Amino acid sequence: MSTLVSVAPAGFNVERIREDFPVLKQTIHGKPLVYLDSAATAQKPHQVVEAIRRFHEVDCANIHRGVHELSQRSTAAYEETRVKARRFINAKKNAEVIFVRGATEAINLVASSWGRKFVKEGDEIIVSALEHHSNIVPWQILCEEKGVKLRVIPMNERGELILEEYEKLLNPRTRMVAVAHVSNALGTINPVREMIAMAHRAGALALIDGAQAAPHMKVDVQALDTDFYAFSGHKVCGPTGVGILYGKSKLLNAMPPYQGGGDMIRTVSFEKTTYNELPYKFEAGTPNIAGGIGLGAALDYVNGIGLDKISAYEHELLVYGTEAISQIPGLRIIGTAREKAAVLSFVIEGIHPHDIGTVLDRQGIAVRTGHHCAQPVMDWFHVPATTRASLAFYNTPAELDALAAGLRKVKEVFA
Ligand code: PMP
Repeated sequence: MSTLVSVAPAGFNVERIREDFPVLKQTIHGKPLVYLDSAATAQKPHQVVEAIRRFHEVDCANIHRGVHELSQRSTAAYEETRVKARRFINAKKNAEVIFVRGATEAINLVASSWGRKFVKEGDEIIVSALEHHSNIVPWQILCEEKGVKLRVIPMNERGELILEEYEKLLNPRTRMVAVAHVSNALGTINPVREMIAMAHRAGALALIDGAQAAPHMKVDVQALDTDFYAFSGHKVCGPTGVGILYGKSKLLNAMPPYQGGGDMIRTVSFEKTTYNELPYKFEAGTPNIAGGIGLGAALDYVNGIGLDKISAYEHELLVYGTEAISQIPGLRIIGTAREKAAVLSFVIEGIHPHDIGTVLDRQGIAVRTGHHCAQPVMDWFHVPATTRASLAFYNTPAELDALAAGLRKVKEVFA
């Protein structure tokens, strides 16, 4: 453990960071909480909780419509998050940063709005074998409606996408390639920059589902040259119910609105309605204002630590945790990509993941068990479910020791 602590990046003090997360200080069933489910949702530092509380107690008003002081304050705070989100992913313009409910809504927005206008029967859309359901089903709905073919990039036994096969799938009928930056079920980091370039060479667009990447690595949408990028606030230490869709303004401008209502219009009459400019064209109705403000505080918080330091520390945790759980007899790690984020998905011979999760919970250890909204991944590995420990920068090597000890206990219980 001491080796690991010594390789933590300079200026990275996990004990100091943990002080910001009141939730981590509790006991569960009499044991200290070990939270290893950050891929499902990350915990929130008190700075985020405070920003949301402050909004409700001091600045609460609807945005964009009021001349009064409170409305101006809440509008300014909400719009400030757009600027922070733009910088967070290095988008060129604020107009390219759309507030949504989360990654799921971002992908649905593109599939629905862009898909409605720009795909036709006979076209093809490519996804990959390791996608979360939210980057499969919206495209399937579109495919069914439009008579479009969904094609799937296969992966190898490590859980890495096979780029030679991807190359073969691309053709002049391909309209969109939609892939995860990081797999939630396996941890695989996909070579999205290369994959986007390949899509573009074939004349297709690319959408990257960044739900599991944005919390763990620096994202630069301009360097990636991606057409769309989606992420959820709650996985970046922000609140639930808010997320970001990035889209190139040229594309967003050409797309029809996703939902109609207040704020997304310029003028309305019964004869003709005209739409607002970007980004508001895609933001109908009163949004999650408190959530947006909380997201701004979360992005500040994560930036304050530094994504480079977060990535480096989490990688060390991954290496440490992999080693620790690999010692458990009968345990098989599902997802062993060479480029991998801090996700440990595994099965133990003869013991159902739900039983593993339940025994771990009795020891205060929170992991996820199930198909992780990635049933095709489970099918590929011929397992009904896995147990997943997903790590964040506030986890410690001692917690991974606790996980390994917890798994030994599981083995004893089910011996
Ligand atoms: N994509 C991936 C890779 C995810 O892990 C998740 C969340 N588990 C989503 C999309 C959907 O995110 P949300 O539920 O926040 O919309």
